[in-house]
Formats: sequence, structure tokens, C-alpha cells
Amino acid sequence: MIYLDHSATTPLDPLVFKAMEPYFAKDFANPASVHSLGQKALKALDDSRFMIGKILEIDKPSDLIFTSGATEANNLLIKGVVLENLTKLDKKLNRKKGDYKKVHIITTAIEHDSVIEPCRALALDKRVEVTYLPTDKKGIVSVSSLVKALKPNTVLVSIGYVNSEIGVIQPINKLGRALKKYNKHVYKTWLNASTRKRGDKPEAIIFHTDATQAPNYLNCSVKSLLVDAMSLSAHKLYGPKGVGALYFNHNFSLSPLLNGGHQEKNLRSGTVNVPGAIGLATALSLANKKRSFEVKRLKALRAFFLRELHKNSVGYKLNTPLKESVPGHINLSFKKIALSGEALLVALDEKGIAVSTGSACAAGSVSVSRVLKALGLSDKEAGRSIRLTMGRLTGKKEIIKIVAVLKRLQRLKNNHSTK
Ligand code: PMP
Repeated sequence: MIYLDHSATTPLDPLVFKAMEPYFAKDFANPASVHSLGQKALKALDDSRFMIGKILEIDKPSDLIFTSGATEANNLLIKGVVLENLTKLDKKLNRKKGDYKKVHIITTAIEHDSVIEPCRALALDKRVEVTYLPTDKKGIVSVSSLVKALKPNTVLVSIGYVNSEIGVIQPINKLGRALKKYNKHVYKTWLNASTRKRGDKPEAIIFHTDATQAPNYLNCSVKSLLVDAMSLSAHKLYGPKGVGALYFNHNFSLSPLLNGGHQEKNLRSGTVNVPGAIGLATALSLANKKRSFEVKRLKALRAFFLRELHKNSVGYKLNTPLKESVPGHINLSFKKIALSGEALLVALDEKGIAVSTGSACAAGSVSVSRVLKALGLSDKEAGRSIRLTMGRLTGKKEIIKIVAVLKRLQRLKNNHSTK
């Protein structure tokens, strides 16, 4: 099988598995146990936290919470911040019936479902309002549209670093800088106001990024990105499924989603997945080491793929902006293969090639990609798009094979249409 679906998930790196293995059966104890076996598991967990913290340039490793993946990390952060703020509102407000003050959050129209859906769920409460920032045709969010959307009641901005469908990279550092400037301005205005007019001390707007698709390609230092919170997932980094992490700088409070045994600073109750945490740390560390080599290799491979399509007269239209995206991603539609994305996926699968349409997490639904539509594609264009995501399993041999299959499908289609 030729695997071109690395954005959906990646195979476990044998070195990651080796690092995790002892903690399944030999050193299996609960890290919350006081006995020495428990303390051994706790040490492994803390070492993993430290390792990840160092790579992400987090000041305090204890600001990192292990979760079951990026979906949970995104939910914990978004719901946690909003619920915390709603509780504050409840305490502060002498609410008249129907007179609600609102908590405002900002995200983008092209986020992963694990960001969009918690926002939608929260917005069922009349006291929560959500702004979905638009993007340009390439899928990029502008600093000016973010600044324009900020309001006195904005508590959170959540913008993904790399989009899983088209691979576009957001200018997180620039957006973060604009937000910090705005926070400073609001604070100074409050400070300079007369004591009589001053309301409560304003709290800085929190900046979160879902960096799930980023670490294979980009440095994810929270310091350089100027973010207060970040979500990660191990299985996109050649690590295990079912484990991820949320970093947040503890300058603000979160309401937990899970209540129970007070693990992870009482923010994520439940026995921590020790082998999973070790897997995430090892996978992130390997991704960090391999990054510059892999980025160069995949850039060349993507250019090779597009050259091969051209050489073989396979007509295509790109949805991925080449300069502004990570090099493993190619989202495109084929001009002369009149198949829907789903039908093309099946045809390629029959030839032993695994690709995806849109996001595999939303698979099962045949609805047209929300992300591609936000870029301005028509239903027809979006419906004919497929996503190829290359990774460590991809080389020239795989590219030559898929181009040959596409050429055959195009010829077949042309023959059918001339009959
Ligand atoms: N965010 C993005 C950008 C993703 O690509 C994914 C996985 N498709 C997730 C979040 C969810 O990650 P997980 O599978 O770890 O819940």
C-alpha cells in the first residue's frame, strides 16, 4: 500500500515504541502511587514533561498537561476558559432577567472540528458569542481582521498553526504580537483612567494555537510564537494514538472538564497514560531532530510530484498555497478526471494508494469540505478535491506510481467521455 495520508495519522516510529515498551508491563505502576514502583512511573512522566517543555521553550514544565489527544486539549482550553469566565460573570453581575453580559471568543472559519465544535456548543449559551475570522483565498488569516474583531469582552483567540486539509501555515507570531500590543493598550488605558471611571482591571486576552499538524515541519517554541496555550497530538508525529498535551501558561485559570482524582494539577483527572506521555515526548524529540532534513526532502518531493503531473499531462488545480504551506501537503483537484473526491479516493484505494478527501476525522460524512468552501471554492470544486499528505514513508517511487495511476484514470475517463 502507498500511504499518502500522513495528515490523518502516522505510523508509530520503532524508536518511540522502544521507549514506551517498558512502561506497559514492567514499570506499569500508577504514577500517583507512593511506593517506589509508582515513583518510577512518576519520574518517567516528569522526564517526558520536561523533555516536551524544553522543545516548546516552556518556562515551567508543570504548565503542560497530558490529555487523550488534541481534541481533548482543544476542548479543555476553549471550554475551560469560557466556563471560567462565565463563572466570573455570574459572580460579578447583578443580572436582571434577560440582561446578559457576554463572553466573546475568536477563532477562524477553517479550524479543525475539535475547535469549531466546542465553540458551536458553547454558543448555545446566550452569554457566549463566537467570531469566525475569514481567510484570504490562500487560507491565511490577516492581522487586521483579528484586530478588527477584538472587543472589550473578548477572552480568547484560538487559531491553528497548520491547517490539516490544505497545509496552510498561519502567521501565529504576527497575530500574537498584535494581540500582545492590544492587551498592553487596554491595560494602559485602564491605568490612565480616573479611579472613578475605572472598572475592574482588564485581563489579557488569551492566545491559543492548535499546533497538531505543525511539529514535523515547524519550530513550535511558545516563546517565538507568542502564544499562551498550545495543543499537540502524538499520532501526527509518528507517536501513539490516544495521547496529546495542552500547554497553558497558568497566568489564567481553566475550569476542568473531567473531575475526579485531581491528577494533572486537578485540570485533567484520570490516571495519566504514562507510556503515551513517553511516546509523545520521544516522538516530538525525533520530529525536532529530523525536521530540517525532512522539510528539505519533502519540498523537493512535492516539486517532483507536480513536475511529474505536468510531464504526464495530468491537469490539476492546486488548493494548497505552495509558498505558505508545510511541504508534506498537497490538496488538489484533477481537471480532466471527472470523479468526485470520494470516487477518486475509492479508485486510488483499489490501486493500493491511500489518500483522503478533506479531513479524515470528519470521514463518514460526504458533506463538502467547510475549509475549501471558506477559501471560496464552489461546491463542485470542493467536492472534487483530494488531499495527499506525504511523510517519512514517501519517496520518489511512490510518487511515480501515483502519477501513473492518475494518468491511466484520466485516459480512461477521456475514452469514456468520447464514446
Ligand atoms: N487538530 C488538528 C489540526 C488535527 O489535524 C487533528 C487530527 N486530525 C486534531 C486536532 C485532533 O487530534 P486527535 O486525533 O489527537 O484528537
